[in-house]
Amino acid sequence: MKLGAMQDWPLRVTSLVDHAEQEHGAREIVSAWGDGSITRTNWRAAAAQARRMAKGLDRVATLAMNHAHHLTSWYGAIGMGGVLHTINPRLFADQLAYIANHAEDRVLFYDKAFAQLVEQLKPEWKTIEHYVCFDNGEFAEWLSAEDDDYRWVEADERDSIGLCYTSGTTGNPKGVLYEHRSTMLHALMEVTPDVFDLSARAVVLPIVPMFHANAWGVPWAAPLVGCKLVLSADYRPQQMCDLFHSEGVTHSAGVPTIWLGMIDYIEQTGIDLGSLGNVTIGGSAAPRAMIDWFRKRGVKVGHAWGMTETSPIGTCGAPPAGWDEMTDGEQLDYIARQGRVPFGMQLRIVDDEGQELPRDGMTSGRLQARGPWVVKRYFKEASEAANADNWFDTGDVAALHPDGTMQITDRAKDVIKSGGEWISSIELENCAVGVPGVAEAAAIGIAHPKWDERPLLLVVRSAGSDVSEQAIRDHLSCHIAKWWQPDAIEFVDDLPHTATGKLSKKTLREQFKDYRLPTAVDMVGRG
Ligand code: ADP
Repeated sequence: MKLGAMQDWPLRVTSLVDHAEQEHGAREIVSAWGDGSITRTNWRAAAAQARRMAKGLDRVATLAMNHAHHLTSWYGAIGMGGVLHTINPRLFADQLAYIANHAEDRVLFYDKAFAQLVEQLKPEWKTIEHYVCFDNGEFAEWLSAEDDDYRWVEADERDSIGLCYTSGTTGNPKGVLYEHRSTMLHALMEVTPDVFDLSARAVVLPIVPMFHANAWGVPWAAPLVGCKLVLSADYRPQQMCDLFHSEGVTHSAGVPTIWLGMIDYIEQTGIDLGSLGNVTIGGSAAPRAMIDWFRKRGVKVGHAWGMTETSPIGTCGAPPAGWDEMTDGEQLDYIARQGRVPFGMQLRIVDDEGQELPRDGMTSGRLQARGPWVVKRYFKEASEAANADNWFDTGDVAALHPDGTMQITDRAKDVIKSGGEWISSIELENCAVGVPGVAEAAAIGIAHPKWDERPLLLVVRSAGSDVSEQAIRDHLSCHIAKWWQPDAIEFVDDLPHTATGKLSKKTLREQFKDYRLPTAVDMVGRG
């Protein structure tokens, strides 16, 4: 009498689109294309298209921005038992050549906008046999060769469905191989009130590319609740704001850089956010000032942390019990931390020897994660990415607070090591962007003869601002320890970003490798 007597129902993602087709068939999927045109389909038509597509497929890769054809190709490729590889077109050409060969892709669906890149890489891609352009009529023609009389392949819920490569700041990119079950559990988690808070009434516009950790899982979560999905190939603030209004967007998600541009645009034009009531900010730390800006406009901010290896949601911030009794400042501090784990996810911090550290909100350590949507092993790698107890080292440094929130203090490779102690580059940056007139800031460690490393703060002023070094220092001195004050502050026109829109500390360290801090020069001067 070991097994129970309930029905067998493998957690396969094709049941998501089946559900949306059956229960929310008329709910729209809107695509805003790169050329400014808008097309509409719905869950019923998308499911039928995906079945047509599934009739003629193999291992599929996509090189595309967000639109309904791209979505259809996901369900089609997976529905026929294939593995979908979403390629990030912003990677370097040699990385693009490497990953498509490594993944052994056979069919590539791509956007016209990337045609030149495709032509350039064709000779390098050894396994791709078919190239189909999404938006020049080829895709429609290709689909018309089949009908939608098709049943999804039925098999194990642990089968692989998708491959996503991490940018690989060192060495070759590494592939994370998602499965039906991990993706389904992630989608079930994501729709809950304390995470993305999605429901049949929601209209969601993810401002995250579908090649970046599956647009944070939104294309899986949307059919689960049957919400209206708005996809856009173009992330310019004006386009986003137009869509907020024309489509009645209620929920959106994106990295801080996206919201910075949007806030600037809104401040300049005086336009409002329409029905937008819920914004998820993640991928990099959401600055306190940004959270406050949204709150003042009645928008609920969820601050999410995660990575490709965690599908990607690891934590999300949402009001806890006792929220109404908290002061404004306490509420802001709470959301400025990276949130709590949803059911299914576990976190701990450890020291360099792997010893678990206290959850006291003061001790920082290497952040480890485990759960059903956390990577176990990278694609085609022999060794495990997680240890014997399934703990995966995220490469982040964090503190765990007694109230359950996690606070990223840095990436292990970005912390500034000064006199044997750690200075959090993220905290310096967050603090600096709290100064009016500072648009963006980056802190990096510069070699120092006495302290090993000391912080250099690079600041981009907002348009028209002449904020001074002194104003920044005055603000910092109210919020950080004295020994955290940067040894130098430099004003720059812009800062480099990675393929996923984050500050590229690697590029900055390279740019400033010969930089001499005035404090270091003093020491040399003094002999
Ligand atoms: P990569 O940036 O290497 O391509 P990911 O896109 O998967 O990889 O990024 C994951 C990393 O982004 C995390 O390990 C963490 O350092 C950073 N990150 C994600 N969300 C947040 C957040 N809310 N606050 C601070 N850092 C974050």
